[in-house]
Amino acid sequence: MNTLRLNSRGPDVELLQSTLQKLGFYTGAIDGIFGFQTFTAVQNFQKAFGLSVDGIVGTNTWNALMPYINGNATYTVKEGDTLDKIAKKYSTTIDAIIYANPQIDANKLQIGEELIVPFGNVVPTNISYTSQILNMNISALKTIYPFLDVTAIGTSVLGRRIQCIKFGNGKREVLYCASTHANEWITTPLLMKFLENLSKSYVNNLNIFGVNARKLYDNVSLYIVPMVNPDGVDLVTGLLSESSWAYANAKRISSNFPDIPFPSGWKANIEGIDLNLQFPAGWNEAREIKYSQGFNRPAPRDFVGFGPLTAPESVSLYNFTLRHNFDLMITYHTQGRVIYYKYQEQIPPESEEIAKHFAKLSGYSLEDVPEDSGFAGFRDWFILYYNKPGFTIEVGAGENPIPVSQFAGIYRENLGILVSGMIQ
Ligand SMILES: [Zn+2]
Repeated sequence: MNTLRLNSRGPDVELLQSTLQKLGFYTGAIDGIFGFQTFTAVQNFQKAFGLSVDGIVGTNTWNALMPYINGNATYTVKEGDTLDKIAKKYSTTIDAIIYANPQIDANKLQIGEELIVPFGNVVPTNISYTSQILNMNISALKTIYPFLDVTAIGTSVLGRRIQCIKFGNGKREVLYCASTHANEWITTPLLMKFLENLSKSYVNNLNIFGVNARKLYDNVSLYIVPMVNPDGVDLVTGLLSESSWAYANAKRISSNFPDIPFPSGWKANIEGIDLNLQFPAGWNEAREIKYSQGFNRPAPRDFVGFGPLTAPESVSLYNFTLRHNFDLMITYHTQGRVIYYKYQEQIPPESEEIAKHFAKLSGYSLEDVPEDSGFAGFRDWFILYYNKPGFTIEVGAGENPIPVSQFAGIYRENLGILVSGMIQ
């Protein structure tokens, strides 16, 4: 982590503010600006945790914050400890500790043995969600929930991992993905918070939206690709340094499209290819439409690329999908509170019923795709190739990027879809 001090700015500062807020040291706005209120909060945190009080967040202070960012601590068993005592001390459950430490004998704790003790929450839903935060959250969830399978389906133009997390061991395969479009990154914490709550329900043997999580685990293999476009997300959220080559290149691409705000209007990958216009389902038609609209070269959005399946992020998603046999797919976008479920006039069996059910659960409306965006998308290809239910869900309302203040509402509207998509 970068060292942060007075006047630092960016998504790291948001993470700091959100963590200090979680701990009760900070009550100001989560704005990514390290001002005097943040400085005071850091000093109070340092005082309370026995650190040197300089108001600078360097290695020691980050290390002290990490258990609260990662939602777990390492605990060394002492004489007289029981799981019950340890669970009470951390306000957690015995099951949570047992699942995080599959190697231990719960009835015979060894003195000096180190335990992972999960507590609180991992996935923040009140900050800009960068690829760095995604990677931290995935490794924290993997520590707490070792039954999750983490792989990379490929890498982005800038070499970032395109992560995939699998929950469950069932025969039915389901795919959820998010953040194909950079300035639609709020869809990433949507899937990550769902994954966290699903895993938590699993270890505690609870229901999620009325369905037992252990039953879901046994019947379904859910694959989540939470950030198809990590480079683009890092550009929009401000993680990508303004002095980097990639930032300068994106800015140069953007300067040809002065009506699109930079970087907030950026949807494409870092080379200016729209990853959702790359799939072999009417790519030539998409090209014709988008070229006629002026998107005939790399652009912040709507450039189809120089051929289908040329951007590594789209290729990764395509190859990954081919290696599986998904019964249902949902790709998350923003915004408009609508659900798309067709490719042209093609409606796979059961799709319409499921779409109606999703609409009822979320309050979103079912719509036909506008004619000028009816080709070359991931859903288009999925439906054309497999003839199975594939959905694009546009969450939130207003202008992209949707403010994180809409997160709670978006989560509430989509929880039913996310659970029922697993069992349809
Ligand atoms: Zn989109």
